[in-house]
Amino acid sequence: MTGAKTLTELFAETGAIITGSHLVYTPKEGGWFHGSEYVNKDMISKHPFLLATCAREMSNNRTLSILFDVVAAPAVGAIFWGGLLALARSEHLKDREILALYAEKEFPNPDDKAQFIFSFRKPYLPDIKDKRVLVAEDVTNSGMSAKKMIEAVEKAGGIVQGVAAICNRFGQKVRDFLQPHTLYPLIDVSMKMWHESECPLCQQGIPINMNLGKAKDWMATSELGKAWKAKHGL
Ligand SMILES: [Zn+2]
Repeated sequence: MTGAKTLTELFAETGAIITGSHLVYTPKEGGWFHGSEYVNKDMISKHPFLLATCAREMSNNRTLSILFDVVAAPAVGAIFWGGLLALARSEHLKDREILALYAEKEFPNPDDKAQFIFSFRKPYLPDIKDKRVLVAEDVTNSGMSAKKMIEAVEKAGGIVQGVAAICNRFGQKVRDFLQPHTLYPLIDVSMKMWHESECPLCQQGIPINMNLGKAKDWMATSELGKAWKAKHGL
């Protein structure tokens, strides 16, 4: 780690990881959920020194003792991370260069944006075929993006060695989802959430963070959200 501070603390200082707040998350099948933590995916990859520290941390110690020839990242957010990871590993090995590639998101059916795949441009394909590939992901939520990257690498004839993530938002759930491949996260955030009707933060009347998450949508569509809005004069 860097000095006395953990990576989680360093990311907290940049605003990429928020703790001790009251947030409304994107609604899921079971309805609206609240919690106190938030990982701001857009903010996590904009500090090069911090990311380089993460890359060295992952590459130099035993976190990532597996062997790989290529790092492959999904466009666009994780490309920078993938490049720094390949560089850190190359510097660590000294005798060879680890390549850094990216795959682009495609929608096989233009009318269905929920279904997507990743694919590599043709010039990259010889760099993947029969090579040991590490998938780089910035933040894993459901793990779907990482899973689609694994499929893209395998389709191109590469041998997936695992997934290296800066931050895993949903603990064991994502690890299980990516099996038989291994997830190597630097930071594991187990985001605890509560259904809107059982949120202890709401019960304590703690103000809701209006700048992050889906608070405005919640107050516009959920009955509890509308009641909260009226009660607090928002
Ligand atoms: Zn709440």
